[in-house]
Amino acid sequence: MRLDEDKIQKHFSGKIFDIISSAADEMNLECYAIGGYVRDIFLYRPSKDIDVVTVGKGIDLAKAVANKIGKGVKLSVFQNFGTAQIKYKDLEVEFVGARRESYERGSRKPFVEDGTLEDDQNRRDFTINALAICLNKNRYGELLDPFGGLEDLENCIIRTPLDPDITFSDDPLRMMRGIRFSSQLGFDIEPETFDAISRNKDRIEIVSKERIIDELNKIVLSPKPSVGFLLLDKTGLLELIFPELVALKGAETKDGVGHKDNFYHTLSVLDNISLKTDNLWLRWAAILHDIAKPATKRWDNRLGWTFHNHNFIGEKMIPGIFRRMKLPLNEKMKYVQKLVGLHMRPVTLVEDEVTDSAVRRLLFEAGDNIEDLMILCEADITSKNQDKVRRFLKNFQIVRQKMKDIEEKDHVRNFQPPIDGQEIMDIFGLAPGAEVGRLKSSIKDAILDGIIPNEYEAAYQYLVKKAATIGLSPVK
Ligand code: ATP
Ligand code: MG
Repeated sequence: MRLDEDKIQKHFSGKIFDIISSAADEMNLECYAIGGYVRDIFLYRPSKDIDVVTVGKGIDLAKAVANKIGKGVKLSVFQNFGTAQIKYKDLEVEFVGARRESYERGSRKPFVEDGTLEDDQNRRDFTINALAICLNKNRYGELLDPFGGLEDLENCIIRTPLDPDITFSDDPLRMMRGIRFSSQLGFDIEPETFDAISRNKDRIEIVSKERIIDELNKIVLSPKPSVGFLLLDKTGLLELIFPELVALKGAETKDGVGHKDNFYHTLSVLDNISLKTDNLWLRWAAILHDIAKPATKRWDNRLGWTFHNHNFIGEKMIPGIFRRMKLPLNEKMKYVQKLVGLHMRPVTLVEDEVTDSAVRRLLFEAGDNIEDLMILCEADITSKNQDKVRRFLKNFQIVRQKMKDIEEKDHVRNFQPPIDGQEIMDIFGLAPGAEVGRLKSSIKDAILDGIIPNEYEAAYQYLVKKAATIGLSPVK
């Protein structure tokens, strides 16, 4: 079958394709575009990453292509892998020789031999990723689809080309990839393929944490991430890679009082937030906002089920989870911790009689992340009762207005107390120590509580008075 003229024009024309085609012909090499680039044409997802496979030495073809392009091309050769990459304008083209792979049980790194196009298609993970388009002149645009990948694309199906048990056992990362594609594309995993994931789930242990988290993050960033998380759960993979999330499952009832199932609640919050933001870390805050509920769950005869301090305990659990999953231990993690720690606060500002001081304190503590915090809190409303949802959302609108009014008036969001620690030491002739810290916080508190305005002179007067109560007076 040949690709229609429109698609050839749109996706396989231009200087780089002309050059690849003529270089391959001159060298007498069969040459194909393959994998994700071809798949994405049919999904109307234009991409700039092109994989080219040639029956012969991929590196040699890449060198010839780079020579022909001349100016503006960047060639990188990876001799050990038998691959080469060309960057030209906004395109990235990977060249590789067609290969046959065989695996050993302990590793997902295959033993590689030269092979035919067919061998190369056999080693691909899914039928939709095994499509190839010929780039040689006389067969330009010919589609090679040995496993019915096109039909699977039309029917929105993820299926392995060969026996799924072998495909997944050989390289268990493919299980994560399959679920990731299902979540990204909204495709179903064909039952045989799905069952094989369940059967081979324990093989995930030979995959590095870094590769697992790459795929998990792609699931988190997919349009409706619950699709991927539910598949991970159903296949048993989630328990292995993220047991803390599975621990949220279950809704206990005592004396007729129940609580919600926090696993499904968390997935709804994640789906909700994904409608509002593509920020990976804000989505992670949604995943982790209730992570300490199992650890903090108690039954109280008067209050029913309680989860006291689950926000703070959750904040403390995050570094351990990030470390194990090889998520970054930097300011991204701190941001997630901060949102999880603060996620119960905005709702306390709903009441009419809430003080300006409480609003100022939250503005100060959340700083620039206040909008993200509000997005998280709004996503956290998952009641099935639409009236309730509307009422809660309206309450948060009121909180937003209160914060806006106060910020305009007092500018506390990112404020630094007007007198810092060094100056306090200079004024009173103090050495560094706890006293300095206490005096400094007393100024901050006085400003947040509205006792004094956020100005130098007022802060100075206040400081002198406060210091006098502990027997200190200015030395200059
Ligand atoms: P995306 O680029 O959207 O992440 P992709 O399918 O293009 O998805 P790449 O990692 O770019 O993924 O890989 C390109 C192609 O290489 C795939 O389409 C597939 O044919 C093949 N491939 C990648 N990883 C594997 C794997 N683990 N097992 C088998 N084939 C793979
Ligand atoms: Mg790709």
